[in-house]
Amino acid sequence: MNIILFGPPGAGKGTQAQFIVKKHNYFQLSTGDLLRDEVKLKTPFGEKIEKLISNGKFVSDETVNTLLRKSITNLKFRDRIIFDGYPRNVEQAKNLELILGEFNQTIGHIIFLNVSKDIIEKRIMGRMTCDKCNITLNEFFNKEQIDLHPCGKDFLKKRKDDNFDVVVARYETYMKTTQPILDFYSKKENFTEIDGAVEIEQITNKINDVLNV
Ligand SMILES: [Zn+2]
Repeated sequence: MNIILFGPPGAGKGTQAQFIVKKHNYFQLSTGDLLRDEVKLKTPFGEKIEKLISNGKFVSDETVNTLLRKSITNLKFRDRIIFDGYPRNVEQAKNLELILGEFNQTIGHIIFLNVSKDIIEKRIMGRMTCDKCNITLNEFFNKEQIDLHPCGKDFLKKRKDDNFDVVVARYETYMKTTQPILDFYSKKENFTEIDGAVEIEQITNKINDVLNV
């Protein structure tokens, strides 16, 4: 069964994808990797892609589809693909269904790992580092650990994080550009939204539940 896994930066998508690969014997397919691999092979097609990328141009849907076809028809990956970071728009989503259909495959599960902007912000704003032992805790999420910290609470200090705006902007851009595809997929029966704000292990358990149905 092929899987689509998507979610905003900070939802833990990468970690969970790796988990599915290991535990359920899947192949993680990211179109970025596909493009890079083709460039490395130095095929004429790869050279064309390299030129586009080095000129800062977008690689067309058609090019991506050609590469997707190559992976989808690879028997080693048959019905064992996690699509990571793809599709990026409704057009690509429809295309993916067509390509899979050509080779008698489907998407078994569409998993959206969600996390709210509030959580993303609190993760950065609440970060405290101990001057003595260097441990990093979060004032919103580790209240008990902060109270019981062996070095004493006074050593835990907040530092201004210059990344705050970048991280929040990246999150907002992702959510905005992903909305159409989220609308498209959330109507489907095999769509599951999982809360990415909980512990990594809890997310993994929920993914397991979904995949074992
Ligand atoms: Zn300490």
